[in-house]
Amino acid sequence: MQNVLIIGSGCAGLTAAIYAARANLCPLVLDGHEPGGQLSLTTHVENFPGFPEGILGPELIENMRKQAQRFGAEFKAGTVTEVDLTKRPFRVIAGKDVYETRTIIVAAGASARLLGLKGERELIGHGVSTCATCDGYFFRGKPIAVVGGGDTAMEEANFLSRYASRVYLIHRRQEFRASKIMVDRAKANEKIEFITPFVVEEILAPQGLVSGVRVREAQNGKTREIDLDGVFVAIGHNPNSILFRGKLEMDENGYLISRNGSLTSIPGVFIAGDVQDHRYRQAVTAAGSGCMAAMDAEKFLEEHKD
Ligand code: NAP
Repeated sequence: MQNVLIIGSGCAGLTAAIYAARANLCPLVLDGHEPGGQLSLTTHVENFPGFPEGILGPELIENMRKQAQRFGAEFKAGTVTEVDLTKRPFRVIAGKDVYETRTIIVAAGASARLLGLKGERELIGHGVSTCATCDGYFFRGKPIAVVGGGDTAMEEANFLSRYASRVYLIHRRQEFRASKIMVDRAKANEKIEFITPFVVEEILAPQGLVSGVRVREAQNGKTREIDLDGVFVAIGHNPNSILFRGKLEMDENGYLISRNGSLTSIPGVFIAGDVQDHRYRQAVTAAGSGCMAAMDAEKFLEEHKD
């Protein structure tokens, strides 16, 4: 029987683990299908307080994990396949493993969105990527595209310009969702060429490897082809909340809805991080909400010593 079972090992889950472990609750963290969450797929993090020179996302995550382990948090690999929240103790199933737990902290995060183009998913690993940090190195000296107009797209374009011979930043609008500083930085980068407002119509891969994209100009419908070797899709994320459909309250986009901090409609189930936050989505806010969830779980356990 677990006191606290944490679903997800990103910034929110790990912070919850640190707090729950320091409260002597010996939390169990189930890693999920993207261990470390989005920070493990990113490069420099310059806005997490305490690191004046910035820190690499994977390093920050590794530090948090070690910090949680130091206080007794346990980690298990595995993706949760089913949850039963109808009665306490709750049951959490991850493949063949079944866990019983007094409280659950859902910190399952959000996953990268795809464009929805034919063959796109199959081409992941063959020229299509959603992770610049993971795959950038493979495109040394080659032209690539980054699709999107948010901070992630700008960040990835800048990062990839270290490797690629040319980076086409393709965005469907002339305006950017990204912060001005990020856009300015990308615009000042000689290797980055902005292709706006253009929509990617097709990823070309006649031999099963990406060889180009066909883009359509949003205003007049004219198309053109760009030869390149890689397409990095950076168009945002979907919350990993399918498991909780019909069990926990969620909005129309699938983001879980919290009540009064990290609480949900089910006593003993708490939520933290990007699975419940479509507004701020920052490492530091995810960490903060992880802390809140652990403190709420601790209080709940204190009040329900059955
Ligand atoms: P985002 O801000 O939601 O931006 C998504 C971008 O993708 C938008 O430009 C959007 O276009 C475009 N898009 C969405 N669906 C599309 C589709 N089907 N086809 C083509 N384009 C599509 O997502 P994000 O850039 O991943 O950022 C998420 C959050 O993390 C934000 O709050 C951001 O500030 C934060 N973040 C911060 C940093 C940093 O500060 N270092 C780094 C990365 C991310 P439209 O604009 O036309 O809708």
